[in-house]
Amino acid sequence: MYKIAVLPGDGIGTEIVPEAVKALNAVGARFGHEFSFTQALVGGAAYDAVGHPLPDETLNLCKESDAVLLGAIGGPQYENLPVHLRPEIGALLPLRKELALYANLRPCMLFPDLIQASTLKEEVLRGVDILVLRELTGGIYFGEKKRGFNAEGIPEASDLLKYSSIEIERIARFAYEAARGRRKRICSVDKANVLESSRLWREVVTGLAKEYPDVETTHMYVDNCSMQLIRNPRQFDVIVTENMFGDILTDEASMLTGSIGMLPSASIGGEVALYEPAHGSAPDIAGQKKANPLATILSVAMMLRYSFRLEKEAKLIEQAVNQVLTEGYRTPDLQEPGKKTVNTEEMGNKICEILTAVR
Ligand code: NAD
Repeated sequence: MYKIAVLPGDGIGTEIVPEAVKALNAVGARFGHEFSFTQALVGGAAYDAVGHPLPDETLNLCKESDAVLLGAIGGPQYENLPVHLRPEIGALLPLRKELALYANLRPCMLFPDLIQASTLKEEVLRGVDILVLRELTGGIYFGEKKRGFNAEGIPEASDLLKYSSIEIERIARFAYEAARGRRKRICSVDKANVLESSRLWREVVTGLAKEYPDVETTHMYVDNCSMQLIRNPRQFDVIVTENMFGDILTDEASMLTGSIGMLPSASIGGEVALYEPAHGSAPDIAGQKKANPLATILSVAMMLRYSFRLEKEAKLIEQAVNQVLTEGYRTPDLQEPGKKTVNTEEMGNKICEILTAVR
């Protein structure tokens, strides 16, 4: 019995998470695994119900589970709440910190049938397979935040970007180990020409590289990386970078896959790992059944792989996603002429049909 905490959250989170739960149930029925799901409130939904975006019951449930499935949180109606009650700062960041999820894995793989869905040219995209490792519990998102006035009475604000060598080394080590199971190339992304925290980042990675002589190490400034990702993405195998750079670069990298609705993620580090799509709550399409559930479904494939060591089951979900795309089914974010448009639930049903039928 695998115990899974299910936190749909806000916006499209409540539409995509049920589809991923359905996929897990289909896999369970097929292979004889039992998954138990306990749902809890998080984000704006929790604030509306109980006045806090991360209630104690939710955090405790996550800690007592074998894995956490999160949809997305946030929305315009919560943007002006006091800082500690905003969904992202009051729930997402503490959840990551409390569960010690320092390593965020975002595999950016291109399903061949989606080449035409991307805004980039086919010859640039063919063969793209990148794993981005984003540091998730340090850096500017967690640094001290201040608001005040300068001597002239003009409003000012600051956010502190701080990293210790320990935080850098553990994510870099994670990246090296991951690279050993792939094409053995690491690109460490920083802004060492300007930022002191990046200079420490580069020093630590350079030192660690000596322990991994079988892995090729390169360093790249983040501005160059954002350009190289769309100029020649095939040059990358594993990218390792700090929290904010990873956040921004992976939204960009999602366009290599055709849509941000295709990019899954796993957050690992402590005893319980958390799985969620890389995108947000998409308030612009929430409630319209337009959301692509595939990033969330691919996130539960990562759950099967990393939390439960069920590799065959994980691969089956990835194959089902590939097959559904090959058969021409598309949610609106991926729509191309001649393809069959399906809504969120229909896409989830197609995946389950394949998971149940494939031999
Ligand atoms: P977003 O990722 O929610 O949406 C960006 C664009 O991508 C939108 O046009 C949206 O419609 C589209 N999109 C996203 N996911 C999609 C999917 N599955 N299928 C089809 N289209 C999809 O980013 P945003 O608009 O900048 O942020 C909206 C809210 O989400 C904000 O409150 C933000 O803070 C929050 N957010 C939460 C998380 C999280 O929960 N981990 C991550 C990022 C943003």
